Parts: sequence; C-alpha cells; structure tokens
Amino acid sequence: MGSRSNALMWFRKGLRIHDNPALEYAAKNSEHLYPVFVIDPHYMEPDPAAFSPGSSRAGLNRIRFLLESLVDLDASFKKLGSRLIVLKGEPFQVLMHYLKEWDISKLCFEFDTDPYYLALDDKVKSYASTAGIEVFSPVSHTLFNPAEIIQKNGGRPPLTYQSFIKVAGQPSWSSTPLSISLSCLPPIGNPGHDLVAEVASVNDLGYEETEEDERTPFKGGESEALRRLKESMANKEWVANFEKPKGDPSAFLKPATTVLSPYLKVIQLKSLFSFISFMKYSDDLISSLFLDYIGSSVVFHPGISTCVFRKFKEMLKSIHLHQFPFLDRSMRQFHMLFQMTLLLSDTVLNWLVLKLILQLLWREFFYTVAFGTPNFDRMQGNRICKQIPWDNNNDLIASWRDSKTGFPWIDANMVQLRKWGWMHHLARHCVACFLTRGDMFQHWEKGRDVFERLLIDSDWAINNGNWLWLSCSSFFYQYNRIYSPISFGKKYDPNGNYIRHFLPVLKDMPKEYIYEPWTAPPSIQRKAKCIIGVDYPKPVVSHETASKECRRRLGEAYELNKKLNGAVTDEDLKKLR
Ligand code: FAD
Repeated sequence: MGSRSNALMWFRKGLRIHDNPALEYAAKNSEHLYPVFVIDPHYMEPDPAAFSPGSSRAGLNRIRFLLESLVDLDASFKKLGSRLIVLKGEPFQVLMHYLKEWDISKLCFEFDTDPYYLALDDKVKSYASTAGIEVFSPVSHTLFNPAEIIQKNGGRPPLTYQSFIKVAGQPSWSSTPLSISLSCLPPIGNPGHDLVAEVASVNDLGYEETEEDERTPFKGGESEALRRLKESMANKEWVANFEKPKGDPSAFLKPATTVLSPYLKVIQLKSLFSFISFMKYSDDLISSLFLDYIGSSVVFHPGISTCVFRKFKEMLKSIHLHQFPFLDRSMRQFHMLFQMTLLLSDTVLNWLVLKLILQLLWREFFYTVAFGTPNFDRMQGNRICKQIPWDNNNDLIASWRDSKTGFPWIDANMVQLRKWGWMHHLARHCVACFLTRGDMFQHWEKGRDVFERLLIDSDWAINNGNWLWLSCSSFFYQYNRIYSPISFGKKYDPNGNYIRHFLPVLKDMPKEYIYEPWTAPPSIQRKAKCIIGVDYPKPVVSHETASKECRRRLGEAYELNKKLNGAVTDEDLKKLR
C-alpha cells in the first residue's frame, strides 16, 4: 500500500461525524474517502405480510428514523465537502463489488456485537484479508469493550449489574483510539454514475406513506438529538425532577426520561457531557472549566471519549490539582467518569448525572452479557435463561400486540409503542409483564419480536436482555411481583389522561371507570359513547385469576429448573403444560 490510498468508511450504527474513531482513521492519509451506508434488505425489504407497515424486522417508524439519520449524516458530510453514498443490496456483495471498483486499500467500520453483524463482519474481514485490504474496526458503540470486560471477569460475562460495575470500575483499561472532531475530509473519488444522490425516502424504498397519524414525534439525526438535549436541559424543573427508576410512565407531553435511546441506537450520542454543559449549573467552576476546554465543540462532540477525559484531566491537574486529589489516581473511562460524576454531583449536579451514567451502564451491562452468552436471544440453548413452558396462544398475543386486551392501561401503552415507537421504561415493564409472567403466560420471544419491530430504539442486546428480565427468565427472579394492569397506571395518572390521549374511544369515560371500563354501568357506557364489548373490548383475561395461575406455573417451572439444574428438556416442559 502506498502512503496515500483510498479508504471506505462503512456506516452501520454510529451515524455520526464526530467522535467517530473509525471515520477518523479512514480519513487519515487517504487520498479519497468513500463514506458508505448500505440499505440492507435483511432489515429494509418491505414485507406486505407484516402486522404493520414496514419490513419483517422494522416498522415504518424505525425505517423513517434511520433514513432521517442518514439525511442528517449526509448534511454533515456536505458541510465538510463530501457526501454520504447510500448503496442498496446484500452488504457483503455490495462491499466486495465497491472495494474492487474503487480500489480501496483501507476499510473502516465500527465494531458491532449483534450476531448478524458479527457473522457478516467475519465474512467481510476474511475477504479483505485475502484482497490485501487493511481493516480497522474499533469499539465505539459502547464505552467498554465487552470482550475485555468478559476477559477481566474470568472469561464469563458478569451476570448482575453490580458485578458488572465492579469489573468496569477497575482502573487500567486499554485506551480507546483518540477521537477528534473532523474539520475536513478527503474528497470522495469518482463513485460512478448515479451513486451520489439524495438519501432515499420511505416511498423510494417501496413503502407507502399513509396519512394515518402513526408517526413518531422523534425525528432521527444527530442534530435533532442535540436539539432535544438542549431543550430538555433548558427545562430546569424537568432536570431537577429526573429520577430513575421512578418517573411517570404516563407523562407523554414531556416524557419523564431523556428519550436518548433512539439516538443511542443509531448515533451513540455519548451525551453525558452535553448534559453537564447545558445544566442549570453551567456557571460552576467545573462546568466552565470543562466548557472552556471543549468550548463549543461540546455541542457537536458530546463524547466521553478517552481523549476528552485525558485532556480534561491534564488540564485540571495543571490548574487546580490540590482541589481534585482523586485525579492523581490511575483512572480511565468508567473510573474517571465515575469519580468525575461524584465530584460533580456533590458540588454541581446533585445526582442527576450520576443517575444518567448509571442508566447508560445498564446498556453496557446488557451489551456485555449478550456478547458473551450464546443464544442470548432465545430460551432454548441459552444457559442463563430459565426454561419455562410458555403457552402459544396467537389470539392472546395478537390482542396484546394490537391494543385489544380490554385493559386500557396496557392497550394505551401498546398504541404509544405503535404510533411513537417509544414508551417509558415502566410502561415497557407493564406490557412485558402482562404478556408473559403477569397475565397471559405467552413466550417472551413473541413480545421481543413485536418490540424489535416497533421500537425506534430497538436494540438487539438491550431488548432481549430486558425481555429476559421482565419475564423472570433471567437476571430477575421475583415472579410474585406482578404489575397490576389496573392500579399501576392509576397511581401516576388517576384521571387517565394518558389513556384518553392514546385510546380516544375512552375519552369520555368517567375517571372512576377509565382503568376498568367493563365495570361501568351500561348507562355510563352509553353516555361515554363506549359500549364495552362493542366499541372497546372486554378484558381478555381476569387479572386476578390469570395472575395467580401465572405465579403457580412459574413456581412449578422454577422448581423443575432447580431440580434438573437447568438441564430441562422439551419433554419436561410439555409435562408442565
Ligand atoms: P433514560 O432513562 O433517559 O436513560 C438514558 C439511557 O440509559 C437510555 O437511552 C438507555 O440507553 C440507557 N438505559 C436506561 N434504562 C435501560 C435499561 N433498562 N437497559 C438498558 N439500557 C438502559 N432500550 C433500548 O434502548 N432499546 C430496546 O430495544 C429496549 N427494549 C426494552 C424492552 C423491554 C421489555 C424493557 C422493559 C426495556 C427496554 N429498553 C430498551 C430499556 C429502556 O426501557 C429504554 O432504554 C428507555 O426507556 C429509553 O428511554 P430514555 O432514553 O428516555 O431512558
């Protein structure tokens, strides 16, 4: 390879210009840089048989969100005198073709832990190696390298959050590549006829946009993520009240949590320090020191990259060392982050930032376990998953999916999921519990599939991890603790405003009945123009009976798992059905 060469940057999830080590490496010493995104039929091919518009794996909201993120990425490239090249087809075939066509000698892409990408990337790497193409694939979608955590934990992933924190909190992490904000890029060469065009719309991909109000209010793209963050941070009351795991799942005008998840999914907006910079306390010494150093780039470079921390640490050391004794310790990544947060939280941010970091570490936790657990996304062959004889009742599953369970809280949650592609964490808890161990006793994999398709933050590791958790199949085992589909939502929203918004058929139901409309006398139902069983379904199960039965069956399954030490067969499960 000569000193100057052609590079291809293959975008998948990290759809951002800034704080992107793969892109930075691709740009370095390259004569031409081809930034590429491949529209993969595996995720994007329209599926007319799917239960809602979209492909078999992704609903239309998810697809639209991705395309919006691509438009934003392309706009960022245009500002740097380049373009995003959007190609279509099976990624391996497409890449092989263009690696040759453009005479590429350096291929860069972000490391991905999803099994689909692990398999694809192996193929791509092996092709590149035979073709003499250099591959650079750094870990930048997560703060930690899951493989490194697993190795430090003796070869197995930590299976509790606490044990994860313990490993992650150890100092002496290998440093991640330096990451800077790029101010210019090598030009793209000659990509060929018609290859540089505006990013396709959903219609161009073969989907029909309907006028139906099914659109998520969350727009894709790094710029939008940053705009949302600024707006949130300007809301002092919201900032002051941010609390997890509490928080009102029925708040929809201003969600109780950050709604960072869709952006973290595709952009990995490592956002914590943008929180700090926009905080009400931004005139504080530390915030201002941080801002002084990062300057306006914090707005565009909200990274927690090692580079930023290292330089920040050095700067603090040189200026105010006596005030920051902890900085003398050998700290990297989490350790540094954690200590910084403690300091900040004492003097500046109460516990907000710490709480957010702790939330983000759940993401890291699930990524690590998912990466280190074969068959993580299924019950069979998954060594950390309890074997449970779930039922398979398609009618019940469809009633849950289509917001027709007759329990307004559950149904309204599912309408929000379908329309917005997002719902509050506790709303996710409620519907997941209801489908599985709470009321319906249906397989968590069925619920996982629906979430995977409809969530705009749909994420393989996190989604599977949380379904395992909520169904008491792994991580969490207190199956006697069931969310009531009636009283849980009422606690937050006694008037039922959330239900009235997402289920307008119940908008005139008096608040006494809004969570249990089947108990409303006929005259009230008539007055509310909502006859139960006609305009809105009767409950598909009796919560009281169903939840007791679920507890009993889970108790039995747990006994069996204990007796057979996890080696439960299909035959054993059949006997419990
Ligand atoms: P905030 O509370 O503001 O938290 C900030 C960030 O911390 C989130 O964006 C997320 O990256 C991380 N985080 C918070 N809680 C969790 C958690 N329990 N697990 C992992 N990371 C967390 N989240 C996804 O991003 N993708 C999914 O596919 C997904 N599927 C889920 C399925 C079920 C059944 C459940 C119960 C939860 C699921 N979650 C998923 C986790 C969580 O509900 C969302 O991350 C969160 O609600 C997103 O909103 P937020 O960004 O406002 O969260």
